[in-house]
Amino acid sequence: MPELPEVETTRRILEPYLLGRTLVRLEHADPARYRRTELAEGRSVLGTRRRGKYILIELEGGLEAVVHLGMTGGFRFAPHPHTRLTVHLGDAVIYYVDPRRFGKWWVVEAGDYGGIELLRRMGPEPLSEEFELEAFRQALARTPRRVKEVLLGQEAVAGVGNIYADESLWMSRIHPERPARSLRPEEVERLYQAIRGVMGRAVSAGGSTLSDASYRQPDGKPGYFQLEHNAYDRAGLPCNTPGCTGRIAKTVVGGRGTHFCPECQRP
Ligand SMILES: [Zn+2]
Repeated sequence: MPELPEVETTRRILEPYLLGRTLVRLEHADPARYRRTELAEGRSVLGTRRRGKYILIELEGGLEAVVHLGMTGGFRFAPHPHTRLTVHLGDAVIYYVDPRRFGKWWVVEAGDYGGIELLRRMGPEPLSEEFELEAFRQALARTPRRVKEVLLGQEAVAGVGNIYADESLWMSRIHPERPARSLRPEEVERLYQAIRGVMGRAVSAGGSTLSDASYRQPDGKPGYFQLEHNAYDRAGLPCNTPGCTGRIAKTVVGGRGTHFCPECQRP
């Protein structure tokens, strides 16, 4: 699933193609999944933003198009067999592709996310100043849930999904099944710094393209952060921590495949 780095990479590449252009037509055949898109037609794009895993396209007239990439969604500049929505810009065309069809679009009054539950209660952006250590510590301290599940929940911090939760927990040497409220202050600080570091480096690398290759940048290029993964998708391989003799193990936490080092990340 595209997480913060993949969504941010996509947004950054799309923005110059959208800015100042008019969304002449949003062509699709699934009004239940791509909602009220006709309201966006004929309006020009004033800007783009990202919140967590959502791309927000700011339109003239006080409207906003909210795009979620789901499990396999993305944009392409070239025609693609799994195109679900075609963005006609007058002098250009952009294709929204989504083989597994979990992605969604909404057109809403700017900032009115009442119908988008996850976006309404989204936590702070990890690469912004709004992500504060003390608030993060409090968010972890008030829940008995396992730390990985808390990270996936989006309320303690935005945009962290399965890959970057595993990478951040490995980096901070915290077992993914630890109850969040059991983390000591120095562990919370390590996790906080790990999330910021991993997310920053992953955005710089254009995100992660896994062996299923479902995520691509709009120009078709892969991301490169998978080359720096230390835990995710490395089950059975030696741990990269200097001096550690462990091998990365795989388990299931909150229904998601979870990778960790049993030596450096003790229960
Ligand atoms: Zn290790």
